[in-house]
Amino acid sequence: MIPFFVAGKPATSADALTVRHPYDTQVVGETANATADQVEEAVAAAVAATGPAAALTAAERAGALDEISRQLGRRAAEVAALITAENGKPIKWARAEVARAVSTFRWAAEEARRFSGELQRLDTDPAAAGRIALVRRVPRGPVLGIAPFNFPLNLVAHKVAPALAVGAPIVLKPAPATPLTALLLGEIMAGLDLPYGMFSILPVPNERMAALVADPRLPVVSFTGSGPVGALIQDAVPRKHVTLELGGNAAALVCRDWDDLGFAAQRIATFGNYQAGQSCIAVQRVLVHRDHLEAFTPLLLEAVSALRTGDPRDEATDVGPVVNEAAAERIEQWIAEAVTAGARVLTGGTREGTTIAPTVLTDVPADAKVTADEVFGPVLVLTPVDSDDAGFDAINDSAFGLQAGVFTRRLDLVFEASRRLRVGGVVIGDVPSFRADQMPYGGVKASGSGREGVASAMDDYTEPRVTVLTGV
Ligand code: NAD
Repeated sequence: MIPFFVAGKPATSADALTVRHPYDTQVVGETANATADQVEEAVAAAVAATGPAAALTAAERAGALDEISRQLGRRAAEVAALITAENGKPIKWARAEVARAVSTFRWAAEEARRFSGELQRLDTDPAAAGRIALVRRVPRGPVLGIAPFNFPLNLVAHKVAPALAVGAPIVLKPAPATPLTALLLGEIMAGLDLPYGMFSILPVPNERMAALVADPRLPVVSFTGSGPVGALIQDAVPRKHVTLELGGNAAALVCRDWDDLGFAAQRIATFGNYQAGQSCIAVQRVLVHRDHLEAFTPLLLEAVSALRTGDPRDEATDVGPVVNEAAAERIEQWIAEAVTAGARVLTGGTREGTTIAPTVLTDVPADAKVTADEVFGPVLVLTPVDSDDAGFDAINDSAFGLQAGVFTRRLDLVFEASRRLRVGGVVIGDVPSFRADQMPYGGVKASGSGREGVASAMDDYTEPRVTVLTGV
């Protein structure tokens, strides 16, 4: 039995949690859900680790983050294999995820060294002559981090690393389908001699999460996952500091001026299907200027058809399974509903077990789930637009607003995209599926509120505390 971590110490329980490979349902490993008493111990220890008495120096925090980065890097092959086993993403994408997490922890170490608040002059008002304000940032308190299944390491890293960087204790709950990678991270952290209570990483059944979310001792909730669960959390604790990183149906727009249609088709095919579409910024809606449609469509179909589906452990596999049979059935159902409503399947549209063939649909009604909702599967919806302007409107015509990709080289369109698109981020000259650790990352509308990205999360996990100095 693989242990979980309560207040930094390995622990287990009788409530077994078996993790299965999404491709062939073989058992990957077994851990357990934490009992109510163990959850209580984790929260009480996090409270004990809060405040000046327990504070680590910046050097200690940065040193620990650098060490986690180094150890993940040394164990990269093992970690990537574990991600592939429990999540089902192709091994090449699992390696990319490990590389990202190595850099997330390294970046957090750098931010920890820099993080220091600010000094403000106050004598802009004559009445405040001789005064300055020292604005420190202090942790709001212990953080509750709740992570999804689709990046079992890096989305855990994006909660744990900023918490450690500011010295906020964290109780991290991984997704039930993919707890083992988070527990491997826990094993690395347990070897670091961090103060008692600085971190707990423990599976908790969804039915018992309401109590943890509502616990007043955890003033910060950082949630990444689906919209309905995010809404539940927001409604349950409206007074807490809640960050919601939710879903999307990201669009890529190929504008009239874009002349490298082969590149756009290749990138859209790859990032509509990477991790079988199970990324919140995977391309879902493909908006193409009508003048390009005839030339672009065969290029896209060729690029999509060239993707190899299969066993994610195979080096050559581009598209593996989705997370489980229920998800595969739902995606198959959504495709069928779109077809009933008039959509045409240009390629794909079939399912074998948990694997959905990379699919391109066109003539899809705007209210079909594959357009309006988040597919979270390898499905692209191809729609012509009559002008670039109509393309921008189409991107905004969504309940979601996470990121968008705009293929253009026209400076006026670049500025228009950045001004007009109601999303958390726009990628110019490429697909929306890009994230770097220094970027504020998150969405608007149904895609959530608040921002991740190491520095943004560090701000989020702390609050300003002002000391006014007189006579300076
Ligand atoms: P999910 O909402 O089913 O689960 C996310 C986490 O919430 C899991 O740990 C789950 O156990 C937990 N959870 C479930 N019910 C809960 C409850 N009642 N109270 C508290 N926690 C509860 O999401 P998922 O299927 O694991 O992940 C996929 C979703 O995550 C997609 O919608 C995707 O777009 C989104 N996502 C968003 C981002 C982003 O940064 N915006 C990144 C990755 C994934």
